Amino acid sequence: MTSAPQPQPGIMEIELYQGGASKVAGVEDVLKLSSNENPHGASPAAMEAARDAAGAMHLYPSTDHAGLRAAIAEIHDLDPERIICGAGSDEIIHMLCQAFVGPGDEVLHTEHGFLMYPISARAAGATPIAAPETDRTVDVEALLAAVTDATRLVFIANPANPTGTLLGGQAVTRLADGLPEGCLLVLDGAYAEFAEEDGLGLAQRRDNVFVTRTFSKMYGLGGMRVGWGFGARAVIDVLNRIRGPFNLSNVALAAAEAAMRDRAFVDACRADNAAQRGRLVAGLRDLGLGCDESHANFVLARFADRDAAEACDAALKASGVIVRHPVGYGLGDCLRITVGDAAGVDRVLDGIAAWVAR
Ligand SMILES: *Cc1c(COP(=O)(O)O)cnc(C)c1O
Repeated sequence: MTSAPQPQPGIMEIELYQGGASKVAGVEDVLKLSSNENPHGASPAAMEAARDAAGAMHLYPSTDHAGLRAAIAEIHDLDPERIICGAGSDEIIHMLCQAFVGPGDEVLHTEHGFLMYPISARAAGATPIAAPETDRTVDVEALLAAVTDATRLVFIANPANPTGTLLGGQAVTRLADGLPEGCLLVLDGAYAEFAEEDGLGLAQRRDNVFVTRTFSKMYGLGGMRVGWGFGARAVIDVLNRIRGPFNLSNVALAAAEAAMRDRAFVDACRADNAAQRGRLVAGLRDLGLGCDESHANFVLARFADRDAAEACDAALKASGVIVRHPVGYGLGDCLRITVGDAAGVDRVLDGIAAWVAR
């Protein structure tokens, strides 16, 4: 009898990530509002660039992502040497954990923080620690109180997912100031394009702040898997040593570069998201549901209890509308709803209104 080798410590404690569902049995016209995708799709320029690049799929892609880093640097006014690209920002989060933590180290995040933080921490053998939030918002004092000698990485998403709340620049700076030597603050900016703060200024000034960004949300390239990180050169150098040399495909690189340069598309999507998000929040509040102001492309609707959230989720699903029940985030009494286009917002509000009036 032979047996497979045992996995590294911590790996079997990982809870498998659950993606947003995309199908409902027996319903053709499904509206997927569970993964914070762009209801307007991707920029036409990005789609054209991807089609063109597909002709060269027999060739290995660039290893240094110079073209994409130059585009990002130009648009955001950054040093391209301080940028790294990954297969989604998930890969950047994973690389940060692989590079900086191991058994005995702690990775700090918050109560309702993104589930990839504990997953990547455990994959590296480290221990994830959750600090409490206050009213579904990151609490700087609670995070600082949870820091120990073993803390190496602190992850916060700003705006946060699944709550949609935003921590102001002063509070983020206070957090960065309060962390001990040798501890890196990672600002996950997956939704920064929708918000007033992006953390890049702080990361430009401070070596202990690192920002992650993605093409999956505002840019509508979730299926392409492209993200990037910005930080101190020393941190980028470390990450590049463990990054797969061909971690991004030709097609993904071409699509992302074209998407980054199509500012008109981004501006139009941002404006429409703000308008539709306003309608969605107002509509939910009119129906008597609690709903914080959101700074992202989704809102979190609060129900009386978990049973009510589950029942409304089931009623929506039966009508072909898929939203997210964020039980794994400790928010069982809530539903997270991606902001759709105008028709999508109408449809989900009609569905919830019908459930409320049942
Ligand atoms: C969607 C999301 C990401 C990243 O997604 P990628 O597709 O891997 O870039 C990262 N953080 C948060 C909080 C997210 O919601």
